[in-house]
Amino acid sequence: MLKVLKFGGSSLADSSQFKKVKGIVDNDDSRQVVVVSAPGKRHSDDNKITDLLYLIHAHLKYGVSYDSILVMIMDRYAEIRETLGLTTGIEKIIDDTFAGIDKKTPVDFIVSRGEYFCARLMAEYLGYHFVDAADWLMFDYEGKVDSAATEKKLREYKDSYGTIVTPGFYGAMPNGDVRVFPRGGSDITGAIAAAALNADVYENWTDVSGILMVDPRIVPDPKTIARVTYDELRELSYMGASVLHEDTVFPVRLKDIPVNIRNTNAPDDAGTIIRENFDDELEEEHERFITGIAGKRNFSIINIYKSRIGEDKLGLLRQVLEVFARYGVPVEQIPSGVDSFSVVFPSDSIRVKKYDLMHELSENEMIDNCSLTEGISLIAIVGRQMAYRTGVSGKIFKALGENHVNIRTIQQGSDEINIMVGVFDEDFNTAIRVLYESFAK
Ligand code: ASP
Repeated sequence: MLKVLKFGGSSLADSSQFKKVKGIVDNDDSRQVVVVSAPGKRHSDDNKITDLLYLIHAHLKYGVSYDSILVMIMDRYAEIRETLGLTTGIEKIIDDTFAGIDKKTPVDFIVSRGEYFCARLMAEYLGYHFVDAADWLMFDYEGKVDSAATEKKLREYKDSYGTIVTPGFYGAMPNGDVRVFPRGGSDITGAIAAAALNADVYENWTDVSGILMVDPRIVPDPKTIARVTYDELRELSYMGASVLHEDTVFPVRLKDIPVNIRNTNAPDDAGTIIRENFDDELEEEHERFITGIAGKRNFSIINIYKSRIGEDKLGLLRQVLEVFARYGVPVEQIPSGVDSFSVVFPSDSIRVKKYDLMHELSENEMIDNCSLTEGISLIAIVGRQMAYRTGVSGKIFKALGENHVNIRTIQQGSDEINIMVGVFDEDFNTAIRVLYESFAK
């Protein structure tokens, strides 16, 4: 059994967080490969090391002294080293690194050092071998990860050392230059490492006990999603839920390696497992058929009406959509009736051109009447277990109706994992709350 673990910045913010990491790693022999971010914020007013490093780069660019920022960085690592009694000379490593940095040093190298210094300390603390990401995570000349080379190198290191700590967020170009992923990219490194080593699970350790069923700013203390598929995750994150982006874990998805989101501050919580599907799920686990609820405010609806629209409907629909395309307005949904249809779209996309677009539509001889309704919220009720189950929509309408929430639009995809309702913005919070209460039991 092999587990690859990635710890995020808040799990590494200071020596007390390092201790929790060690507790977690020591607790399970299969936790053999550890990917670390750079130390993050210790409290809400604090700074992330990576942000400070970007700031240093900006100072260098404008020729302004960055000494005070370097002191802040140094203090963070020194606290970890001293408190944990480590012997790695991190202060000297940091001094030497910055002695070699000037205006011409690429930004990627500078900002990657947060992870590098962190991994040096963590490797000693865990008694694992330090392996630099620049020695195994290989990019090609186009900046894409060279999977074959990466896999081969990491496997060699794993075979030689058994247990390793490696920095997240960066790798090396063919000429050896450091290249970083987008911000938050240590998640990608962890996924690449887990896939390269065919790990049994990729544990992504953060500061929440997994993905929540609903936004905690709307429903206090919601339940955690125990299992979620990538398709469900996509629906939820598209509708605004802040969850791990499925692109970042693409390498493990390809190999069907489960991702387990865990909380460093509550290591006994089981967290959330993400997989392609849960076909082997036990019957009793099917009971709760909603996985999560997410929503977005600020949509508008243009309603188009034409008496006895008949066969012209397709032609009219095409004309209307052409107008939307010309104005660059992305269409979200097109609910339709016998003599009418509506187009749902984000309000922001039409703001300055609202009157022109409406004018153009009202000039169209095929349209009898068109109107604009603003202030609409879309809410997605997502659950793989809703598929082919009767009564789910009935339950949704009952819950909303009993709480006097008027449903403006309804849509269900044919895969039946998502039912989307449109309500007025002022009903948004109530709708989410009552839906959660009626389904989360
Ligand atoms: N330290 C980097 C960042 O702050 C990468 C990461 O944490 O995943 O974006």
